[in-house]
Amino acid sequence: MIHHSRIRHLIGVPPENGSYVLYWMQQAQRTEFNHALAFAVQKADELDLPLVVGFVLIPDFPQANLRHYRFMAEGINDVRMGLERLDIPFILQAGEMVKSVLKLAEQAAWVVTDVGYLTLQRKWRDTVAKALACPFSAVESDVIVPVSVASEKPEIAARTFRPRVLKNKDAFLNVPPVLHGRGRPLLLPEGVTDSADVFELIARMPINASVSPVSSFKGGQQAAKIRLNRFIGQSLADYETLARDPVARCQSDMSPYLHFGHVSPVFIYQEITAADAPDAAKWAFLEQLLVRRELSINFVFYEPGYARYETAVPAWARESLERHRSDPRPYVYSRDQLEQAQTHDAYWNAAQMEMAATGKMHNYMRMYWGKKIMEWCEDPKEAFDIMLFLNNTHELDGRDPNSYAGVAWCFGRHDRPWQERPVFGKIRYMNARGLERKFRIAEYVERVRATS
Ligand SMILES: Cc1cc2nc3c(=O)[nH]c(=O)nc-3n(C[C@H](O)[C@H](O)[C@H](O)COP(=O)(O)OP(=O)(O)OC[C@H]3O[C@@H](n4cnc5c(N)ncnc54)[C@H](O)[C@@H]3O)c2cc1C
Repeated sequence: MIHHSRIRHLIGVPPENGSYVLYWMQQAQRTEFNHALAFAVQKADELDLPLVVGFVLIPDFPQANLRHYRFMAEGINDVRMGLERLDIPFILQAGEMVKSVLKLAEQAAWVVTDVGYLTLQRKWRDTVAKALACPFSAVESDVIVPVSVASEKPEIAARTFRPRVLKNKDAFLNVPPVLHGRGRPLLLPEGVTDSADVFELIARMPINASVSPVSSFKGGQQAAKIRLNRFIGQSLADYETLARDPVARCQSDMSPYLHFGHVSPVFIYQEITAADAPDAAKWAFLEQLLVRRELSINFVFYEPGYARYETAVPAWARESLERHRSDPRPYVYSRDQLEQAQTHDAYWNAAQMEMAATGKMHNYMRMYWGKKIMEWCEDPKEAFDIMLFLNNTHELDGRDPNSYAGVAWCFGRHDRPWQERPVFGKIRYMNARGLERKFRIAEYVERVRATS
């Protein structure tokens, strides 16, 4: 069963003619545990029509580069194989998003899509909705609790958001219907062509190649499941005590997969709760997956200015930073120096190098990394922009609601005022001595050096 609150009918007209149901796959790039795909199958069965899945690759997604496209392509390859097993034709195209989707939908009786929360994703869906004449439904497949059920407003902090998601989560933990082969021929709609080889397609597209793909992560739903199993078997039991430690490698590495929709958060939730591990460890993990991740989605959904300093950062924090703008700063670095990891701080440089080389910086180091950029830039707005740029360019999980909420958190979003101090004002402060006190941080630096 798909909970009705996951489904929004963007065009509610009754279906008239049309020769297939189209699932425009965009955010949820997987065939397993995909509520939007399950809903599209249900519609196709009700209307007794074939189902077609379409995916459109655009060459210029803001701040995306070859690193991201390669990871995504590996996921698309998995989708194609998964759909083949279900006897569902898959059409992959490159081009302008809305135009391509409308072309794919020309003969559709019903169009289904998934839900993405960033401005561009929402704009695509709104524009498609204005131009389509058939029913068009969007199904929230990449959250546990649908964003507007969890809360009807931007939440101040995890403490205000937590009771809301916890109260609602049980209604949304059901497994979407398991799909079976449909026993229909794999016929494409007339006049529509499929670019069968995704790797060949991205090689031909004018993609920003300034950042190389990484070998540390392979994309796709199969790779996501293997990693999750390994995490559950080897690290989950220690998550409560070790996840914060950059030396311990006790994180799940699910964020790139969640970002590209290669794995469902409901699936992860089910696997974690069924695992043989202490409850405290499971809850420490679910706090991140359910509360922190969905708080980020709440943030970008209710704050359209999530990518701008003036709107993403709370007024108390901006005022405080403004008062400390001309405080003396022993070190000031440019974006280039930061990108090249050329600062005086070996811990910070290691974090930057970890991100640039592997596509994923450790969570604790992301906080330290962000706080230091703030300290080393004279203009807080410039610091905010640099952070977003570096994060979104190098992190495989960049350009995510978590990216915008993570950067804004460094500036006080979802946090509270702390004791006032130079440069940081009332913003929470972090320093190298804290890293030395809490962790064997020199080992982290060594490890990054050895692997970069
Ligand atoms: C400055 C800064 C930038 C960040 N940029 C990103 C980003 O670009 N993309 C991204 O996905 N996350 C970002 N985060 C949040 C967090 O660091 C990552 O989600 C986490 O490190 C991902 O690793 P993991 O999947 O192994 O996490 P795990 O510890 O295994 O956690 C499991 C899942 O819980 C969620 N989660 C964990 N920590 C957080 C958190 N602090 N906030 C929200 N959700 C969380 C993620 O979905 C994660 O995949 C950022 C945080 C900061 C402070």
